[in-house]
Amino acid sequence: MPTIDALAERLIEYLGPDEIRQVRRAYYYAEQAHDGQFRRSGEPYIVHPLAVADILANMYMDHQSLMAAMLHDVIEDTNIPKEIIAIQFDETIANLVDGVSKLTQIHFESKAEQQAGNFQKMALAMANDIRVILVKLADRLHNMRTLGALNPEKKRRIAKETLDIYSPIANRLGMNTVRIELEELCFHALFPMRAKRIAKAVKKVRGNRSEIVDKINEQVRQRLAEENIAGRCIGREKRLLSIYNKMKEQKKSFSDVTDVYGFRIITDSVDTCYRILGVIHNLYKPVPGRFKDYIAIPKTNGYQSLHTTLLGMHGIPIEVQVRTEEMEAMANNGIAAHWLYKAGDQDSHHTLKRAQQWVRGVLEIHKRAGNPLEFIEHVKNDLFPDEIYVFTPKGKIMELPKGATPVDFAFAVHTDVGSRCIACRIDRHLAPLSQPLVSGQTIEIVTSSGARPNPTWLNFVVSGKARGNIRHFLKHQQESEAIDLGRRLLLKGLASNAVNFSEMDDHTIKHALKHFTLPDIDSLYREIGLGNRMANIVANQFSLLIHGIVEEGHAGKTVPVPLTDEEKTKPTPFIIKGTEGMVIAYAKCCNPIPGDPIVGFMSAGKGAVVHAEACKNIAKFLHDPEKCTHMRWDKNIQSEFAVELHVELENQRGVIALLASVITQATGNIESINMQDRDARICIVDLSISVEGRIHLARIMRRIKHIKSVIKVSRKRTTQN
Ligand code: MN
Repeated sequence: MPTIDALAERLIEYLGPDEIRQVRRAYYYAEQAHDGQFRRSGEPYIVHPLAVADILANMYMDHQSLMAAMLHDVIEDTNIPKEIIAIQFDETIANLVDGVSKLTQIHFESKAEQQAGNFQKMALAMANDIRVILVKLADRLHNMRTLGALNPEKKRRIAKETLDIYSPIANRLGMNTVRIELEELCFHALFPMRAKRIAKAVKKVRGNRSEIVDKINEQVRQRLAEENIAGRCIGREKRLLSIYNKMKEQKKSFSDVTDVYGFRIITDSVDTCYRILGVIHNLYKPVPGRFKDYIAIPKTNGYQSLHTTLLGMHGIPIEVQVRTEEMEAMANNGIAAHWLYKAGDQDSHHTLKRAQQWVRGVLEIHKRAGNPLEFIEHVKNDLFPDEIYVFTPKGKIMELPKGATPVDFAFAVHTDVGSRCIACRIDRHLAPLSQPLVSGQTIEIVTSSGARPNPTWLNFVVSGKARGNIRHFLKHQQESEAIDLGRRLLLKGLASNAVNFSEMDDHTIKHALKHFTLPDIDSLYREIGLGNRMANIVANQFSLLIHGIVEEGHAGKTVPVPLTDEEKTKPTPFIIKGTEGMVIAYAKCCNPIPGDPIVGFMSAGKGAVVHAEACKNIAKFLHDPEKCTHMRWDKNIQSEFAVELHVELENQRGVIALLASVITQATGNIESINMQDRDARICIVDLSISVEGRIHLARIMRRIKHIKSVIKVSRKRTTQN
């Protein structure tokens, strides 16, 4: 059984005494936290974190990673929160431990298989520090090594998750040693019988092979020595899973697969690699078409090596890989090799640069990273710069751009869900639709059949899909609302001109449209609704046409003849229903509410803005029929309208809370509260509340006045009185 003393002994090789002391402290802390807990094997729990740290030490990981490894199950399995770890150790350690815990909490295995790729990305996106992933991989590796104590069902489940999620992540990060061991362990867990059979067969042929292996090895070694080339040659064992896969996928027999002999020659420089290649091509006959130069063109995960296949004595196939020591380290430990090269090196600047070059190869980054932390950040950012991964309530993963909000999510699920969303729950808690999402969250969208996209959503959505859909909807919406408003405005105008719409025949309408040079009646409505044409004037034209008092001028010119006094009637007001949508806005200056006398101020291209008749801002247009339309509130108006209240009160403890509760009790909706002290005694509160109308507002104001400490309450608006 490994001990902390044995580990500390080994750490001397690359860590300083203070760093080792900190690793020890993390160990003792974890040991105490897990006191009384046991693994399924019966061993004390601390054996596991210690083993995880040991795996990371083999990769020469830094002391913080080792500390996080010691503590990695403390948040999850004992009652010690992240905050305490931050106090006991520091923020970095606490974040690492917390990151590992979060990955542990997600149950990947319950989700659909085809989503594995997204899970890999999600796991990486969730880890703010790439070391979280390295600790998690080491954790998984030790759990896989010690699967023995679990029942076969659980073994299979964990092995499958490992194959789907963790070994691809290890592969992505270039950590071959970890990946290979994970895959071999998975093979044993998933197909114990097949693994045993192949292992037995391999053992059997190994005896026959060793003579040949030794012979080839000796020949290569001798030839390198003759040429004065430094390099070591090692025989490679085929892995069981790879033998199995080759047999299965390429339909080869066991001997077809295993009759190939694998060697690796490791040397000091890239230059020597190519010289060695020349030497062995001279020694044995190369198989045409099998040479691959992964030094000049590395694999996407940064792997570098020369590959070639030769025919040895008696025509046996020999696969050879040639690479430098550094490539060897990178091929085995990938991203973790960064710490290996950093650790205990005198020329740390140089090694950091080499590590960076590797990362650049992997990730094609071109930024310069000055210190290791920045380096880690770059690696992280460049792996997954712009994506987050969140769950639907059913566990499906959605990939969204960074900064995406619940509205983006809703549109990603379905256009209908986006169009009709009204609220959301993030991890079961109600949250604003504008809240940026974070990887790993579960999002539930609440929809309502009558709901529509809100123009303000455009201020925070980030996905093209959401933006496009909202824009499209609004454009369409505005158009149909403009048509509707225009039709009503025209009807009202016609009524004022004593014209009944039903009196108009197709011929009259056609004639009128020609006069306005518009293709159809909807275009005319839209023009009126958008405020580009005044309904009164259009109605007047119609009236003249219908009453037959338009004279066709020469050259087809229409000359309107003004109405006589009897023909003019009292203007019919336009009825505001509160459901007109975007083409009707309520003026912010006077905040009209039902009960207030109102007029509509037409502004070109936008539609009508409803003002209070008493509003100062429109006083000079009030009697201009080209600018203002007479309006009236519908009797059964249902909407709520914003008003501003100004309250002066004596500054007493709890008085704001009292004010708020009085308003709420009178069913007023408080939208904002602003307060300032005028002096020590008096404070001023400005409120924005929404009400149904004047009667409702009067009731609220009366209740406010009844509060003892209230001195004065008034409605704030730009009116003349
Ligand atoms: Mn663990």
